[in-house]
Amino acid sequence: MNAYDSRKMADVLAPMGYNEVDEPEGADMIILNTCHIREKATEKVFSELGRLKKHKQDAEKEDRKVLMAVAGCVAQAEGDFIAERAPYVDMVFGPQSFGTLPEMVAEATGAYGKKRIINTDFEEEDKFDKLPEETIATGPTAFLAVQEGCDKFCTFCVVPYTRGGEYSRRPEAILDEVKALRDQGVREVSFLGQNVNAYHGLNADGETKSLAELMLMTAEIDGIERIRYTTSHPRDMQDDLIESHAHPKVMPYLHLPVQSGSNKILKAMNRKHERDLYFEIIEKFRKVRPDIAISGDFIIGFPGETDQDFEDTMDLVRQIKYSSAYSFKYSPRPGTTAAKMGGIIREDIKDARLQELQALLNQQMRDFNEQTIGKELPTLFDGTPREGQLYGRSPYNQAIYVTGHPRLDGQMDTVRITGTNGKSLMGELVLL
Ligand code: SF4
Repeated sequence: MNAYDSRKMADVLAPMGYNEVDEPEGADMIILNTCHIREKATEKVFSELGRLKKHKQDAEKEDRKVLMAVAGCVAQAEGDFIAERAPYVDMVFGPQSFGTLPEMVAEATGAYGKKRIINTDFEEEDKFDKLPEETIATGPTAFLAVQEGCDKFCTFCVVPYTRGGEYSRRPEAILDEVKALRDQGVREVSFLGQNVNAYHGLNADGETKSLAELMLMTAEIDGIERIRYTTSHPRDMQDDLIESHAHPKVMPYLHLPVQSGSNKILKAMNRKHERDLYFEIIEKFRKVRPDIAISGDFIIGFPGETDQDFEDTMDLVRQIKYSSAYSFKYSPRPGTTAAKMGGIIREDIKDARLQELQALLNQQMRDFNEQTIGKELPTLFDGTPREGQLYGRSPYNQAIYVTGHPRLDGQMDTVRITGTNGKSLMGELVLL
C-alpha cells in the first residue's frame, strides 16, 4: 500500500514539475513515506530523518531549498511529536491527505507565505477523488488501491487508527484506472486493501459490487491477463470470491493471514473467528483450485501464548501447507489494546518459537517450489536483474529467473522450471 501511495504522490506532484529520482542527493523535495506496522517504527523514522537532514543542510549552503516531508502512518500517528522533535521537517501528512500535496507544497514553499504543514486529518471519503485520474505505469504489473482502512480493531494493530475506517472506491473509477494502465502495457493488476475482501464499492446505479464482481469485470478488459488481490481477512471471505478463482485470469494464489492457530489467542487478538473457519475457507478454495498457493501471516509470542497455543499454530501450519508466509515476533504498538495486556512472553521464548515456525514454513516453501520442477508455467517477465537474465512471476507468485533477451521484458512466456534454491525458481524458455 505504501509503494502504491508513493507512486500516487509522484503522480500528484508531476504537474508541478517534480520528477522522481533514485537518490536524495540533489533532490528538491524528500518525502519519507513511513509504515507503522513494524517494530520501533518511530525511532527508525527519526534515525532516517537525521541521515536525510544532511541533504537539506548541504543545499542551504548552496542557497538551494530542499523541502522535507514525513508521510504515511507514522506521520498520522505521531505528527505533533515529529513536528516538535524534527523542526527542519517542512510537511507532516497522513495517508489520507496526500491528494492535497500541491496545496501543501505551495504553502510550504512560500507561494502564499511560507508555512509549516501538519496535516493528519482523516478525509478518506474523498482521498481518491483528489488523486489524478491518470496513473503512470512502471512495468507490466501494477498495484491499485481499491479499498482502504479497517474496522476490525485486532488488538495488536494500528491500522484502524492510522488509516481510518473501511472505505471502498467506486468500481467505475477502478475500471477506468485499469484501462489506463492496460493502455500503457500493464497485463497484471493487484487490487490492494488493508481488508481487500471487505470491498463493497457503490456504482453509479447505486448497486454495491463485491471484490469478486470487480475482478470479473476487470477480467473482461482486453489485455489484462492476470488479477490478484491482497490482503484478505477470513471473516470477510465470501463464496463468490472463492468461486472467482475458477476464472483463468484470477491467479491461483491466496494471501490469507491467520496470525495464530490457537482459538484462545485468536480471541485475545480480537480476530473474530476460530481456527475451524480458516480450515473451512482453505478447503473451499482447494475445491475450486486444487493447485492454489496459500500464503499467510503469523504473530508469534502474543501476550499469554503458552507452549500449547504455539503448538496449535504449528499444527495449523502442518495441515495447511503454505507456499510462502510472513512471520514475526509480537511487539506492542502504543495505543493498541494488546499493548496493555499482561502475560508478556520472554524474548528468548519468542525467538525459539519463531525459529521453529520459520524452519517449518521454509520447508513448506521449498516443498511447494520443488513440486513445480519440470512443469511449464506461464511467466510474466517484469525486469532484467542482470545482463541476459529475465525475472518474472509464475501464476503462484513464485519468482522465476531465466536466461533470455531483454526484449521479452513485459511479455508473458512459458517457462520450464529446472530448479529451485528454495525461495525462487530457475527455468528455461519454452519456444512454442
Ligand atoms: S484486520 Fe488487519 S488491518 Fe484490520 S485491525 Fe486486523 S490486522 Fe489490522
